[in-house]
Amino acid sequence: RGKTDPVLQLEKINVTFDGFRALTDLSLSIGVGELRCVIGPNGAGKTTLMDVITGKTQPDNGRIFYDQDIDLRTLSPVEIARAGIGRKFQKPTVFEALTVVENLEIAQKCDKSVWHSLRAKLNGEQRDRISEVLQLLRLTEFSKRSAGLLSHGQKQFLEIGMLLVQEPHLLLLDEPAAGLTDAETDYIAELFRRLAGKHSLMVVEHDMGFVESIADHVTVLHQGQVLAEGSLRDVQANEQVIDVYLGR
Ligand code: ADP
Repeated sequence: RGKTDPVLQLEKINVTFDGFRALTDLSLSIGVGELRCVIGPNGAGKTTLMDVITGKTQPDNGRIFYDQDIDLRTLSPVEIARAGIGRKFQKPTVFEALTVVENLEIAQKCDKSVWHSLRAKLNGEQRDRISEVLQLLRLTEFSKRSAGLLSHGQKQFLEIGMLLVQEPHLLLLDEPAAGLTDAETDYIAELFRRLAGKHSLMVVEHDMGFVESIADHVTVLHQGQVLAEGSLRDVQANEQVIDVYLGR
């Protein structure tokens, strides 16, 4: 795969809920190694977009290609995860009674067939990966702490780590900066910039300051459609975007 090839390509996706159009003819393409932000007001369809990519919601029509030729509409949510698409929801969902490192171990085992894997010992390479991820998420010194005792921000970081140990190609992150301290937000921005290239990232975010600190490319959704797309600067100068989202 070349740098300019899309890792994900949505073509004319429509989603309706009881006649209500949540996504209308939505087309979107994310390049390999790209860090894309998706912004837009409440109800714009951002969560629905994530749900469609991960197989949680089936679109009425349209096509979704992953890695050029894998048609995601033919795969189950589990198969989509296995194909290398990891999603982080807005609220952290770590195992609170387990320690930090146990959470990472479980996450690393669970992408393979469950019983076989849960009983298997981690190999050296997998342990190294966990150490690396603990460091990356600044959790090394907390690795033996129960996850329930972590701060909100640390739980968010741990959950990103639980995705990273599975070596996803494409990371979908729903408002990862929500509830983080300023220092944590700065660090997560730095982390995302570092992950881009090796991984592709799609970040749904409300906090424009955070978007400014990470994104080279932004998609603005409004009423289930792409209102604007391009560099952050172009999008911020777009009259329609200012009207419906940024305000004057
Ligand atoms: P966002 O994440 O940008 O706030 P959503 O994707 O959650 O937007 O929602 C888009 C629109 O679709 C909203 O008007 C919402 O009320 C509607 N919607 C989302 N999910 C459902 C559902 N399961 N049933 C009915 N309407 C829904």
